[in-house]
Amino acid sequence: MTDPSATLDAALAEAHLPALLMALVHLTGDAALLTEERRAVYDPLAEARLGGYSPEVAADLRARAKAAIQKHLDGAPLPAPPAPETVRRMMDFIAGVDIPANYAAFLTDELQLTGVDTKAPDWSEPKLKAAAGRMTVIVVGAGMSGLLTGIRLKQAGVPFTILEKNADAGGTWFENVYPGCRVDNPNHMYSYSFEPNHDFPQYYSTQPVLLDYFCKVADKHGLREHIRFETTVEEAVFDEAANRWRVTVHTKDGGRETLVANALVTAVGQLNRPRYPDIEGLETFDGPSFHSARWRKDVDLTGKRVAVIGTGASAFQFVPEIAPKVAHLDIYQRTPPWPLPGPTYHDDVPEGKKWLLGHVPFYGKWYRFWLFWTLTDGFYEAVKADPDWNGPPEAVGQANAELRAQVVEALRAQVVDRPDLLEKLEPRYPIGGKRALVDNGVWVNALKRDNVDLNTAGIASITPTGVVTRDGVEHPADVLIFGTGFHASRFLWPMKIVGRGGVDLETAWNGDARAYLGMTTPGFPNLFILYGPNTNIVVNGSIIFFSECSVRYIVGALKLLAQTGAPTLEVKKAVHDAFNAKVDAANAQMAWGSPNVTSWYKNAVGRVSQNWPFPLVDYWNATVTPNPDDFILGAKVKETA
Ligand code: NAP
Repeated sequence: MTDPSATLDAALAEAHLPALLMALVHLTGDAALLTEERRAVYDPLAEARLGGYSPEVAADLRARAKAAIQKHLDGAPLPAPPAPETVRRMMDFIAGVDIPANYAAFLTDELQLTGVDTKAPDWSEPKLKAAAGRMTVIVVGAGMSGLLTGIRLKQAGVPFTILEKNADAGGTWFENVYPGCRVDNPNHMYSYSFEPNHDFPQYYSTQPVLLDYFCKVADKHGLREHIRFETTVEEAVFDEAANRWRVTVHTKDGGRETLVANALVTAVGQLNRPRYPDIEGLETFDGPSFHSARWRKDVDLTGKRVAVIGTGASAFQFVPEIAPKVAHLDIYQRTPPWPLPGPTYHDDVPEGKKWLLGHVPFYGKWYRFWLFWTLTDGFYEAVKADPDWNGPPEAVGQANAELRAQVVEALRAQVVDRPDLLEKLEPRYPIGGKRALVDNGVWVNALKRDNVDLNTAGIASITPTGVVTRDGVEHPADVLIFGTGFHASRFLWPMKIVGRGGVDLETAWNGDARAYLGMTTPGFPNLFILYGPNTNIVVNGSIIFFSECSVRYIVGALKLLAQTGAPTLEVKKAVHDAFNAKVDAANAQMAWGSPNVTSWYKNAVGRVSQNWPFPLVDYWNATVTPNPDDFILGAKVKETA
C-alpha cells in the first residue's frame, strides 16, 4: 500500500504553486493567506510552476496545503466559498497583475467556481420548451465547435442533426495525422470549460489523445445518434417562402438528399482545406507528394530524400519527427516563424500534478485560470501597435520590442554553435505578426542535424526529380511534403451558401469575408457561422473559449426566435458594417495588421479577415446575450403544417 502522506508530498512537489495557494484559500476559508510574498510573479514565457516564490515561501505553502488537503481527505467539510471580493483578489494574485475591473464578470464566468456550467442554456420555461420542440437545426461539422453546438442544443431541447463529411467526429484532430501533430496551447485550457480532463498525459496532448477526448465527449453527451457521418454538404439555400434552409448533401451511400431546417450552423473550421503552393512544375514531380493535412501513412520516408515546403505550425511539428528517419531533408523556408519558449511542450504531466487536479478542490479550476490569463489577454498588450512607435519596423511598440528581444535571446542560445542558422531563423517581422509556435528546442535540433538543410534561397520550380532554387541549384527529392497551410480566408468554401434573393455568399463576400461577431451576415437569415471571419485568436489563446462564447450566442439567438415567435433573425446591415469598421481599425493596430507581415490572417485583398483584434473580454461581453436591436426579426407567419 502506498503511504498517503508520501503520495501527498510527491504531489505537492509537482504543484503549480499559485494554483495551490488558491486551492488553500478555498480549503481553509482563510483570505489572510493572500499576502504580498505569495503573489505570483507574472512571466508569460516561464512555466512559472514556482510562481516566483522564494524557497521558504514555497515550502511553507506546501506544508500548509498538506495539512489542509489531509483534513479535506479525512472528510472535513469545505468552509463557505470565498466572498466575491476575495475571489477578485485571488485572480490578481494568481495572475501576478492587477486585472482590470471590467474583466471580473468575464473571468468569473470562465472560472465557474460554483460548479454550475453558466454557459449552458436554460430553456426550462414551458413556452420555450414547446417552441424548442418545433425548431430544427442543422449543424455542419462534428469537430470541436460542432460537437459543442450539439451539446448546447441538446441541453436546450432543440432538435438538431450534425452533418459530418468524415467517418468520425473530431474535425481537425481526425484529419491531421501527421507525425508529431499535437495541440500548441496547453490542454488544461484547450478543453471544454465544462469537460475538464485531469488525466491528460501531457501538457500539450498529441493528436490521438485529442481525438479520443472529443470522441469521448461526443459519446458522453449522446451526440452520435444526431450525427450523420460521411455526409458532405454541397449547398444550402434559404427558402424565403418557407423561412427554411434547404441543405443538399452527398450521402454515405453515394446518393443526394435535401434536408430542411429552421437554422443552419456551420462549424467547419478555418483550417481544413489544404492549400498547395503555386510553383511552376509542381504537377510534374514524379515521386509521392502530399500535404501535411493529408498525410500519406503508406509512404515510408525511411532512407528517402525528402523536400518539405513551408515552415509554419505544421512543419514545425512534423520535421523533428521525420528528420531522424530520412536520408536527407531539405526544408524550404520562405519566412521564419516566431518560436516562443515552451520547455514543457513535449513533457508528461507528472503523476503528482494529475493527482492534485483530480483530488484537490478548485486546484484544477485555478490552474486553468492561470493558463487562460497568462497565455491570452496577458499577452495582448505586447502585440498591440503603439501609434507613436518610432523604433525599428521589426517591432510595433516598446512591449513588442521587449518580447522580441527575449525570444530572440532564447533562439540565439540554441544556435551559439551555428551563427548561420540564427541568420536564417531570426524573424524580421514583429512578433505576433504570424502565429507564434511553441518551442522546446526540437525544431532547432532537427535543423542542426547533418542530414538536414534549411534552404532559404527561394523556390524557382519543381522538376520530376526535385526542387530548383532561385540560385539555380537543383535539389533531388524522392518525396515532396507541403506544409503550406490552408485556404483559411475562404471560410465556408467549397459549400455553396445561398441567401435571400438567390445571393451566393462567396460571391457576396468577393474574397473579403465579413460577419457580425464572426457569426451572422446580412441577407442570410438564421445562418450562424462558427470560427467565422475575425474570430481567430493569435496570441496562444484557446479557440475553444471562442467557440463557447459563439455557441452561447447562437443558442441565445435561437431563444430569441422562440421567445418572440419570429421565424427568422437577420443582422442589420448597419450593425454589421459598423462592427466591421471597428474590427478593421483595431486590426490595423495589431502586430498582425502590420504592413510588414504577410500571413494567412490576411485575405486576398490584404485585409485581416481572420483575427479578433480586441481583448477576449470584449468578445465575451458581446456574446453573452444577443441584442435584439441588432437584428431584423422576420414577421410571424401562421404555420400551415
Ligand atoms: P501556415 O502556418 O500557413 O504555414 C505555411 C507555410 O508554408 C509558411 O511557412 C509559408 O511561408 C509556407 N509557404 C506557403 N506557400 C509557399 C510557397 N509557395 N513557397 C514557399 N513556402 C510557402 O500553415 P500550417 O503550418 O499548416 O499552419 C496553419 C495554422 O494551423 C497555424 O497557424 C495554426 O493556427 C494551425 N495549426 C495548429 C497546430 C497546433 O495547434 N498544433 C498545428 C498545425 C497548424 P510564409 O510564412 O512566407 O507564407
